[in-house]
Amino acid sequence: MTKHIFVTGGVVSSLGKGLTSASIGMLLERRGLRVRMQKLDPYINVDPGTMSPYQHGEVYVLDDGSETDLDLGHYERFTNSPLTRRCNYTTGQIYLRVIEKERRGEFLGKTVQVIPHITNEIKNCIRQLGSEDVDVVITEIGGTVGDIESQPFLEAIRQFSLDAGKENCLYIHLTLVPFLKVAGELKTKPTQHSVGQLRQIGIQPDILICRTERELPTAEKEKIALFCNVPVDSVIEERDKDFSIYEVPLSLVEHGLDSLIVKKLGLNTNTLELDDWRDLIHRLRNPETEISIAVVGKYAEHKDAYKSIYEAIDHAGMEHHSQIRIGRIQSEEIEREGPERLLAGFDGILVPGGFGERGTEGKVDAIRWARKRNIPFLGICLGMQCAVIEFARNVVGLEAANSTEFDKDTPHPVICLLDEQQNITDKGGTMRLGSQQSHVRLGTRALECYGQQEISERHRHRYEFNNVYQQQFDAHGLVVAATSENDSLVEIIEVANHPFFVAVQFHPEFKSKPTAAHPLFSGFVQAAVRRSSRESYSAESTTDISNR
Ligand code: GLN
Repeated sequence: MTKHIFVTGGVVSSLGKGLTSASIGMLLERRGLRVRMQKLDPYINVDPGTMSPYQHGEVYVLDDGSETDLDLGHYERFTNSPLTRRCNYTTGQIYLRVIEKERRGEFLGKTVQVIPHITNEIKNCIRQLGSEDVDVVITEIGGTVGDIESQPFLEAIRQFSLDAGKENCLYIHLTLVPFLKVAGELKTKPTQHSVGQLRQIGIQPDILICRTERELPTAEKEKIALFCNVPVDSVIEERDKDFSIYEVPLSLVEHGLDSLIVKKLGLNTNTLELDDWRDLIHRLRNPETEISIAVVGKYAEHKDAYKSIYEAIDHAGMEHHSQIRIGRIQSEEIEREGPERLLAGFDGILVPGGFGERGTEGKVDAIRWARKRNIPFLGICLGMQCAVIEFARNVVGLEAANSTEFDKDTPHPVICLLDEQQNITDKGGTMRLGSQQSHVRLGTRALECYGQQEISERHRHRYEFNNVYQQQFDAHGLVVAATSENDSLVEIIEVANHPFFVAVQFHPEFKSKPTAAHPLFSGFVQAAVRRSSRESYSAESTTDISNR
C-alpha cells in the first residue's frame, strides 16, 4: 500500500515548500524507499508554459515535454523520482479535465460541482502516482493555506485520508516563526493561526516544520505544540540557510525529520545513506579556487528566472572545487553601457534561453565580447541563436543577419521558424518540447565534454539554425558539433580556435544534478577555472571582420 505525504504551507509564500518537499523525498529515498513527487498548483493557467518569468520564474521542462513548475526542478535535483506530466497539475488542468468529461456526457446529467467532481478529479491525480512499486507519494500543495484558490486542493487531501486510511497519510505543514526585532522575540502566533485555519477545514497536521532565522527554543516548540495540537517532537525547526540550499536535507536530519516521518507512517527502511551528499557539502564549503561567471539575460534581475542555470553552474563548481560568483547581468544594460563596463573581469559568460526581441542586441554584444577575448562561453537555446547571429554579422560578414523571431524581413535569416511550427497559432504547449536524441560529431569540444556521441537533451523552442548557411559558417570556423537524429536540426555549434565556445539549442541545465554536474556545464566551468588561473589564456582573436 502506497503511503501519502501532503505538504502544505502557511503564513506567507516563498517559504521553500518545494525545497523542503524535495529534501523529504531525498531523505526517504536515501533510506531505500521508492518515492514519487508531485506538485498541485492552484492557479488557472493550464501550465506555466505561457506565463512570464516575472510571474512564475523559470518554466521547468521534463523529458516528456511537459512544461512545469520550477519546484519540479528541485525534485529532480534532489531525488531520482521519475517525473512526468502526471507530477504537476494546476486548477486549470483539473477543471479542463472535468469540463471535457462533462461535454462527453460522462456525468449522466448530474450537476457538476466543486465537491465532489473537482475534488474527485484531484484525488484521482494524486492516487494515480501510487502503485505496487511505490512506497511513498509526496504531494506538495502550492499557495498558502487560507487562499481562496487552494481550497479545493485542501478539501481533496482532507478527503484523501478517508479513502486511503488515516494510517497511510501524513500531513506536513510548513510555517514561518518570525523574529520580531522590536520585541526581541520569536513569534508563534502566525503559526497558531495558520494551523487553526487548516484545522477548521478538517486537516490536523501531523508534523510542523517551522522556518525561522534563529534557533527555535524548547519553550517555543512547546507553545506551538500545545496550541496546534501536535506532540512537541513533531515541531521541527528549519533554520534559514545562507550558505547553500543543499544543506537543507542535512539540517532536517539533524532535527530528526526523517526518523519522525518513518515512525509516523510505520515504514520499514534501511539506514540513511548520506556520505556522498556530505562530501558534496564539504567540497562546497572548502573550495580551492574562486571564479566568476556572468549570466547575461533579459530577466537577470529576477532570481528565479534562470533557476536551473544557476544551480547547474553551482554543480559544476562543486565538481571542480571552485566557488563561483554569479553575476546576473541584464542584457539591455549591455546595450546601454557596452560590454566592457559590465563584463570585464568575468571568467566565463553564459547566455541563457529567452523569447522576444528585448535585450537580444545586448546578448549579441556580450557574445562578441566573449568570442573575441577568448572568454569561455556557453550559449543556451536563444543564447545559441544569438551566437549564430553574432558570428554571421561579425565574422561571415552578413551584416543584417537575424532571427525571423526578431526581424521577419531580415535579408539573412540565419535563425528561422522550425518547419513543424509554420502553421501553429496556439501558444500553450506547442513548441518543440522535451527530450530528443542528438548525435555529437567527432573531433568536437562537445564530444570531449560528453565522452559519448549519442546524447538525449530537453528542448523548448520554435526557431532553429537555418541549414542553408551551414557551409558558409563552416568555412569561417563555426562548426556544427551535433545534429538531431535524422541530421535535420542543428543541436550544438562551436567556434574553433577558442578555449571554450559552445552553444546548444537544447537546455542542458534541466539535467544537471548536484551529485552529477552536466558535462557541458562542467566543461564550461573547467575552462573558466583555467582561464582564471591563466593556464590557457591566449591573446585576442583576430577573426572578426572588423579586425581584418
Ligand atoms: N525564442 C527562441 C525560440 O523559440 C528560443 C527559445 C528558448 O530560448 N527557450 O526558438
